[in-house]
Amino acid sequence: MKGPLEELQIIKPVKLSIDGVSKTFHEGVVVTHALDNVSLSVDEGEFVCLVGPSGCGKSTLLAMIAGLEFPDQGAIMSDGKMVTEPGRDRMVMFQEAALFPWLDVLGNVMFGLKLKPNLTTKECREVAKFYIQLVGLAKYARSNIHELSGGMRQRVALARSLAPNPRVLLMDEPFASLDAMTREQLYGDLQEIWAARKKTIVFVTHNVREAACLGDRVVLFSPHPGRVREQFKIDLPRPRDINSPSLAAYATEITKALKSHQAGNDDVAE
Ligand code: ADP
Repeated sequence: MKGPLEELQIIKPVKLSIDGVSKTFHEGVVVTHALDNVSLSVDEGEFVCLVGPSGCGKSTLLAMIAGLEFPDQGAIMSDGKMVTEPGRDRMVMFQEAALFPWLDVLGNVMFGLKLKPNLTTKECREVAKFYIQLVGLAKYARSNIHELSGGMRQRVALARSLAPNPRVLLMDEPFASLDAMTREQLYGDLQEIWAARKKTIVFVTHNVREAACLGDRVVLFSPHPGRVREQFKIDLPRPRDINSPSLAAYATEITKALKSHQAGNDDVAE
């Protein structure tokens, strides 16, 4: 299979291994131990959510998997290969969509395909249209970015991240700035897209219920320094409804653990 159709194939998701990763930032005299000896494995096609209070190193870990930051100690492996730089196999999506206002929806999604120099402009357009449809924006392909709601912009950002057909999707609080109803729609759509396109997803959030709704597994971090505290396997059928009582029970369990670790930290600080 050649050309754009090849780009649309479902490809094998990767397994990620984070082995004994530590990271310290130095800013003048300020030293921050962002992560301390973090080890974590993410299976092929697994949806893993990282939760924890602000400052516990979730975004730093995501940036390291993306190849945008590097560990001081330890290593990050993608299918057994050390991550040493960013790559189109690992796409990142942030809280703010960071779209180009001078390009329309199609132009923004096609921009992500610049990472694929083997495609002609016509082929890029075809691939971009496929993903625009996948995120439910087929009618808005030629709309300007300023005409779109916040939720629609995040859909464009999702299509742009998906378009190079990465094997891992790294999502840093992508729905945090959206209203509850829009978020709920996106939870459903993201679960569907993940199931259809078979990606490995690492999703950062501080919203416990969101994590329990989306993750196969929720990894709880604690801060100062950032460490993995506990992991929770979410054994619920999909697609999940964020308002279901069984999901609420998981969220309660995780929140309790979060609070008990926070109390533990306070004790140490005192
Ligand atoms: P989280 O995503 O859990 O909120 P971060 O990974 O953003 O946590 O940050 C972890 C800690 O590292 C915080 O104390 C933050 O201030 C610090 N930090 C993150 N990036 C940098 C940086 N580039 N320079 C200095 N300190 C940083």
